[in-house]
Amino acid sequence: MKIRSAEFVKTALLPAHYPPPQFPEIAFAGRSNVGKSTLINTLANRGNLAKTSRMPGRTQAINFFWVNEELFFVDLPGYGFARVPEKVRQSWGPMVEAYLAGRENLALIVLILDIRRELRDDDRNFLLWMEEKGRPCQLVLTKADKLSRRQALASQRLIEAQAGGAGRREPILFSSRTRQGRELLWRAIEEAARTL
Ligand code: GDP
Repeated sequence: MKIRSAEFVKTALLPAHYPPPQFPEIAFAGRSNVGKSTLINTLANRGNLAKTSRMPGRTQAINFFWVNEELFFVDLPGYGFARVPEKVRQSWGPMVEAYLAGRENLALIVLILDIRRELRDDDRNFLLWMEEKGRPCQLVLTKADKLSRRQALASQRLIEAQAGGAGRREPILFSSRTRQGRELLWRAIEEAARTL
């Protein structure tokens, strides 16, 4: 995918702060520290578009980026915070739920998982909830460079089975180091944006 432009547009804490729903949106979700910011930067060919976080769970707002003047990337706060207070943890729910459940121009949710970890309860809950809402969801297994090709394929099959769900797309193997999976994920994004 050729990137002509990619820019940060705004940070939102409330629906009133979202940009007008004029373009298809691709939302990125995942546990803190999974490599979400790095993946967004890799897709957009920008070193520092989404800020990579030092402290897991630091960014609690929804961030919007405009890509090629034709779609928005939406960076959701990481979930599964181990180190934040309960109060902050609870605030993830309503804000992100409102976005995911109600946003009319949301074309695809990209759920990012670390290829070395099995699916956890909060990942599964997220998937189940998206299914209930009828939202299309693409799993991406990142940090694939940390495993051999054989291990990566085995993990892909295991996580796919754990995720279940009839008709779910095959998880994409991804690495920000080697850029493996970048074109495949872009194809899924373009397809989803076209069919919104
Ligand atoms: P976020 O909290 O989900 O946004 O995670 P970050 O993008 O900040 O990444 C967390 C850590 O994982 C950083 O140290 C990254 O350098 C590292 N990382 C992210 N993607 C990859 C990848 O594809 N391969 C490897 N080896 N490390 C990665």
